[in-house]
Amino acid sequence: MGSNGEAQQLEGLARELALSVLIHGPLSRRELAERLGVSPATLTRISAPLVERGLVSEAEEPLEGRLGRPARPLDIVPAAHTFIGVKLAADALYAVKTNLRAEILASRNAELTSQDPAKVVEQIATLVHDLASDHEITGVGVSLGGNTPDHAVVSRAPFLRWADVPLAALVAERIGHPTVIENDLVALTVAEQWFGEGRDLDNFAVLTMGAGVGYGLVIHRRLVTSPDVGIGLVGHYPVDPEGPWCAEGHRGCADTMLSINGVRAQAAVAYRRPLDYNEVMELAEEDDLAASAIVRQSGLALGRLIAAVANLTMSQRIVVSGEGVRLAEIAHDAVLEGIQRDRDPAASPVGLVIQPHDSDLWARGAASVAIQQFILAGAPA
Ligand SMILES: [Zn+2]
Repeated sequence: MGSNGEAQQLEGLARELALSVLIHGPLSRRELAERLGVSPATLTRISAPLVERGLVSEAEEPLEGRLGRPARPLDIVPAAHTFIGVKLAADALYAVKTNLRAEILASRNAELTSQDPAKVVEQIATLVHDLASDHEITGVGVSLGGNTPDHAVVSRAPFLRWADVPLAALVAERIGHPTVIENDLVALTVAEQWFGEGRDLDNFAVLTMGAGVGYGLVIHRRLVTSPDVGIGLVGHYPVDPEGPWCAEGHRGCADTMLSINGVRAQAAVAYRRPLDYNEVMELAEEDDLAASAIVRQSGLALGRLIAAVANLTMSQRIVVSGEGVRLAEIAHDAVLEGIQRDRDPAASPVGLVIQPHDSDLWARGAASVAIQQFILAGAPA
């Protein structure tokens, strides 16, 4: 192998090392050498430049030494780099500043004042500037509900009436930091994969309830992506044979049963007046008859959707998240009943995690994509 090839191989291993300690650290040198399939001497060669640059350090706490000599594990230095994530919603922008481990250091949000791309970029720039204060920013991630096939151009985002907006370039030009764009559901899944519930799992899924129903999947530690990410395909998955009809002509699809507007539409029929989502949830909590029935049916429907995901993808854990997650909390028993209906009694229990709603989680997803880009594309080179 020529020296070029060797340099490239070391670079690849350095990235792998940074990634391993980022996600699983602290790790002993022995564990790391095993994970990377290299000798202790090679490991030292790979880690030395990363330690020198302050990206990786020896942890303070020694792990149990094997031969009496305490081994100090290697870990990422979370404060070595700072990132900003921005989630663009229909009526607001949510932004967070994080360290390398996607831990939130500060957050800001703002009402979206215009859908004009130039004005949205201005609002993003203001938030980034406010959050950055005296921190040097390594990268910025922006997420939104739409298609972003090359992580640079928003090819389609109907909620903003956007088509082919080169958002990454516009933002990067305006703020002077590397910027990456991602679908919001993918970004949320990346955050769980690297820094959350999926950290130690081969297979897991994320289901979100909000304006629509979202779905993200990691199989064999790889995020499953497709050009159709952003269309919200799981929204039309049938979950209740007796549910209401959606605009596309499906009966009881996930959108009609689980989205915020789906639940509100059912409540409006029952109460003969418009109700907001929280009002429906409060009525259900007070055992009001009609709201309780709606929430119970939706809980059962969510359970069946969870069971379908578990049955078809063999996910070890399913994370339920989003601004409509209160339904899963209130109708928890119905959710479990719905899972049970469609799951073989001999099957392993579904690892269900219901994540309390926090709009910062979406922005943290956007920051996670910027961190991923930094580690996989550039960091240790
Ligand atoms: Zn439908």
